[in-house]
Amino acid sequence: MSDIFEKCFNYTDAKKVMEAGVYPYFHALDSGQDTEVIMNGKRTIMLGSNNYLGLTSDERVKRAAIKAVEKFGSGCSGSRFLNGTLTLHNELEKRLAKFVKKEAALTFSTGFQTNLGIISAIAGRNDYIISDRGNHASLVDGCRLSFAKNVKYRHNDMVDLERILKSIPDKCGKLIVFDGVFSMEGDIANLPEIVRLAKKYGARIMIDDAHGFGVLGKHGRGTAEYFGLEDEVDIIMSTFSKSLASLGGFIAAKEEVIHYVKHVSRPFIFSASIPPANAAAALEALNIMESEPERIKRLWEVADYMREGFKSIGIPIGNSQTPIIPVMTYDDYRTFKIARDLLDEGVYVNPVISPAVNKGEALLRTSYTATHTKEQLDYALEAFKRVFSRN
Ligand code: PMP
Repeated sequence: MSDIFEKCFNYTDAKKVMEAGVYPYFHALDSGQDTEVIMNGKRTIMLGSNNYLGLTSDERVKRAAIKAVEKFGSGCSGSRFLNGTLTLHNELEKRLAKFVKKEAALTFSTGFQTNLGIISAIAGRNDYIISDRGNHASLVDGCRLSFAKNVKYRHNDMVDLERILKSIPDKCGKLIVFDGVFSMEGDIANLPEIVRLAKKYGARIMIDDAHGFGVLGKHGRGTAEYFGLEDEVDIIMSTFSKSLASLGGFIAAKEEVIHYVKHVSRPFIFSASIPPANAAAALEALNIMESEPERIKRLWEVADYMREGFKSIGIPIGNSQTPIIPVMTYDDYRTFKIARDLLDEGVYVNPVISPAVNKGEALLRTSYTATHTKEQLDYALEAFKRVFSRN
């Protein structure tokens, strides 16, 4: 008889990396998430966080979360659909919709769940979802959860996208789904061309702007603002776990779309709502983002400084256009080894191997925060230089 646990008993991938002394995962922090953290008991420069605007440690955000716990308690004990809606959720949704210039918004308990919830609700049996091959796992799984037919186009390849759109029968609904900023390599989707093709072939557009929100556009409204195409994107999705320094996610779209999704989306209906502290923190972070646009400017200065810095010391970086800068290491073991050596030097980066990127294209994902100091950045560049010279 076969034992369903067999695969667990035989799983050796992670153990091999542990035995080689370069296991890079689950390092515990004994501090808040900031540009410097306490990791394994040691002060470490954080170059692996999505805390783009540096708001996770902002006193105003922390106070807002504490006040919300005092007023609303520690959790909602139920779904938005039933007992779990707070006035705070409604206020947050109104503010988000207004901010991204859509009629309405809907919050979910995580960004991952948002993608599961929107795609599975909106794409039915007679529909097609057309996705970029480089899409985030939550979009991929959202597509799997829906009953629609799934087709993928080569990463940011508009010729391939058109080839696919052309082949889909007119009578089928079509949704083009993609990351605004691709999460591992930091490149930006070709939104102008996607908009043109969507119009030509009658498709709707959904953008996952987890890494564009708070980062791209003068006001941080994301990829659509960056290209001046806010009216052309049908569904904007983003998360609270990055620029908004919290946990949760949202979609913004036309009133009828939100009304439909909130009555049919299973990951929305059958899961408890965002806890008060998280909702209040996201709302306060949004207020700060709006009132302190200089944070976005500073974030870009930091990213540009590092892009130039890596180039000047001859370290290969990918096709980054944003504050996500991949350092190319290609080989899996070398990636782990360099990450380990950097950690020993007091710099944390995220090693990324297949399946998160293609085989042979392993990389160190570095990402930046508006509040990184020049001293921290220079220290990190020196550490990279030393570590690369011996690996
Ligand atoms: N979409 C993208 C592009 C992401 O990078 C992530 C998380 N890294 C998510 C969705 C999921 O968001 P969350 O972590 O807030 O659940």
